[in-house]
Amino acid sequence: MSKLLPVEEAQARLLALRAPLAPEKTAFSESLGRYLSDDVVALRDQPAAPLSAMDGYAIRHADLPGPWTVTGEVAAGAIAAATVGRGQAMRIFTGAPLPDGADTVLIQEDVVVDGATLTLTDPAPAYPGQHVRNRASDFAVGATLVAAGTRLTPGAIAAAIMGGGAQLGVGARPRVAILTTGDELVRPGRALAPGQIPDSNGAMLAAMLAVEPAVVGLPLSIRDDRQTLSKVLKDLARRHDVIVTVGGASVGDHDHVRGALEDAGGALDFWKIAMRPGKPLIAGTVGDALLLGLPGNPSSAFVTATLFLIPLVRHLAGAASPLPEIRHAPLLAPLGPGGKRRDYLRARLEGGVLAVFDSQDSGRTFPLAAATALVLREIDAAPRAAGAVAPYIDIA
Ligand code: AMP
Ligand code: MG
Repeated sequence: MSKLLPVEEAQARLLALRAPLAPEKTAFSESLGRYLSDDVVALRDQPAAPLSAMDGYAIRHADLPGPWTVTGEVAAGAIAAATVGRGQAMRIFTGAPLPDGADTVLIQEDVVVDGATLTLTDPAPAYPGQHVRNRASDFAVGATLVAAGTRLTPGAIAAAIMGGGAQLGVGARPRVAILTTGDELVRPGRALAPGQIPDSNGAMLAAMLAVEPAVVGLPLSIRDDRQTLSKVLKDLARRHDVIVTVGGASVGDHDHVRGALEDAGGALDFWKIAMRPGKPLIAGTVGDALLLGLPGNPSSAFVTATLFLIPLVRHLAGAASPLPEIRHAPLLAPLGPGGKRRDYLRARLEGGVLAVFDSQDSGRTFPLAAATALVLREIDAAPRAAGAVAPYIDIA
């Protein structure tokens, strides 16, 4: 048997096959989940002037302990008509610019007002500037608000908007085709003849990709026929950045992805990975498209999609860190020794503890439905006791 490729090496080789797609401009409303192509740099100070952080009265700290004469009011969006002089106060509301002369806000719960006379009833503010948001206290012009390669979250979008820009530069969304292969496959929900099974992988991969910045076609399913497969690959390659096939990636008489890739004029990059599930994995190119061939067993397809397909899509979409994050948590029960390939064990993280499922049969979908974590077990790893900390990938 040829030498198996370590997972990290295979991931690096896969991502090296293509550079990220060219960036494009996008509206804030379309930017969630996209990867920034440039740093978002603040074009303005925030706040642009000192603002009140509370509803209350703007005063000069030097005038404490009062009393004061209330001379007017200022609300958010307005500018005070007058300055605040010695012994004067101005009614102020959250988000309103502090009037000139004032430096501190008394909160309304701490004062009483009788006509125009304001008196402090509670302890005085501890320091000048209390309840005031200083100019640029959030960020100043030129600050990097969100770094290139970051996935845009709702909070990052808010910061980018507050920074004063009009749109965002993001990586383009790769166009992904999903192709399931197998004579036994039937569309989800359709009646099954003996020997047939529902095609679960197509919809599973589409669901995994639905939360990624990708344009994903409806899954196609074709029979185990090298010629048809080759034609379809060639055709899909014209309109897609990534073609992901599932099934037929091994070396059986009915496994045609490698052969079809050759017939389509494509190039094979590698195809045996030191991992379980998921050893047979094909990566290559057809025309300008990348081809990723995943094994058909549902758990194998899921694990290889997690480790290769999703990172590939994120890389093309401009992610700085496209690989799944490795976290750590203690094991609920002892774990046996590792074998000749790295295991990705289906498990559940409950109360911060990893419960690894008894059955790791890659053909089963039932454990896949319950799994929220993939526990990594290294090649030739020693057995581990309950409570030992293990690395895992969050798949919840
Ligand atoms: P293969 O990788 O084609 O050898 O398939 C391995 C196993 O996964 C076989 O039991 C297939 O029937 C099953 N399988 C292949 N493709 C799918 C699919 N799209 N949905 C569910 N099971 C599949
Ligand atoms: Mg098959």
